Amino acid sequence: MDESMVFWLGFYLCFFAMSTYVGFKKNNLVAGVLLGYVLGPIGLILLLMSSDRKQGTCPHCSQRIDRQSYICPKCEQKCYKQVI
Ligand SMILES: [Zn+2]
Repeated sequence: MDESMVFWLGFYLCFFAMSTYVGFKKNNLVAGVLLGYVLGPIGLILLLMSSDRKQGTCPHCSQRIDRQSYICPKCEQKCYKQVI
């Protein structure tokens, strides 16, 4: 194995690891692994641009909050099942 091949392999694996991590963070691990594996750096960019499935917008103060939360941490109003 020559040096440039090792470099590109490391480069590719780096993006693969990052997209896997981003996918995990966004509660979408399978998509992260697949996009990173198939598309490499482009998959990572696509993943970073995709919307976060874990987060929603509070109906009262329109802040980004967790979809599962019962009370909005920002405005402290009840927002259960109202998060958009
Ligand atoms: Zn709120």
